[in-house]
Amino acid sequence: MRKVYYIYNPKTRTYDRIYPTVRQRALSYLRQLFVGMGLGAGSFILLLWIFGSPSEKDLRTENSRLLSQYAILSSRLDEAEGVMQRLQQRDDNIYRVMMQADPLPDEQRSATANNARYNELMDMANSRLVIHTLQKMDDLEKKIYAQSKSFDEVVGLCKQHDKMLACIPAIQPVSNKNLKQTASGYGMRVDPIYKTVKFHAGMDFSANIGTPVYATGNGRVKQAGWDGLYGNCIIIDHGFGYVTRYAHLNKIEVKVGQNVARGEVIGQVGSTGKSTGPHLHYEVRVKGKIVNPVNYYFMDLNADDYEKMIELAANHGRVFD
Ligand SMILES: [Zn+2]
Repeated sequence: MRKVYYIYNPKTRTYDRIYPTVRQRALSYLRQLFVGMGLGAGSFILLLWIFGSPSEKDLRTENSRLLSQYAILSSRLDEAEGVMQRLQQRDDNIYRVMMQADPLPDEQRSATANNARYNELMDMANSRLVIHTLQKMDDLEKKIYAQSKSFDEVVGLCKQHDKMLACIPAIQPVSNKNLKQTASGYGMRVDPIYKTVKFHAGMDFSANIGTPVYATGNGRVKQAGWDGLYGNCIIIDHGFGYVTRYAHLNKIEVKVGQNVARGEVIGQVGSTGKSTGPHLHYEVRVKGKIVNPVNYYFMDLNADDYEKMIELAANHGRVFD
């Protein structure tokens, strides 16, 4: 229906009907249209500002779900890291020890940070969480890789375990029945000649000249002959990082390059070199490090003999050098 317009006439105090032109009508419509559109747009923006658009709301929900999943993932990675740590400890302290292997160095187990890749993520709103989770994953991956390598090595060592057991020094080089006195042990001792406190790198077995000296494990003679202060001396390489030395011998009964078996006679007790009386000076080296031979008689001693040896080998024994 067409609108009818009136205007108030103060002179006659009546309402006179007016007839707007098409132009005026059009302008009026346009005005109303613009006001309506303005109000509509205004309230739309207001609602958007307060509640967010439907799609943005969905994105926010999605985002918070992702965030919580990331947090769960991160804590599950912590748990996996804990399991990994227990696996490593078992490996280092049980499996590798059983196979006489050193613990795996820390640097082989831990990951080097991939900073370039992490830096790319720095501009993310939740970069801390994302980068930390990624770092944990990288670290775990490296540890799993190192661990599987270590197990391969342990399996390899297991396969040659019997051979290794036959080679590791495991008996006394002089029999108990020939022993006059289990003399001085390993450690800081008063030097018998210089009378000063010195490190004694081996163990001295006091016995008569001519008493047989036995190879303490299978191996190959690396050195056999005169060796300065050691006098007549034999060095046996047992493989697997084990080397033994037998010094001050009266007689050497093996040659360089000869294979010897555990318990085989290799020479006789003597007093050659820097020595104050007939005795055998015996040393054990593991991977180049000198160790206390007392830990390498585990095969032929009963518990009492072992205790006795440890007692005698303690600080008070007389050093023959
Ligand atoms: Zn000695």
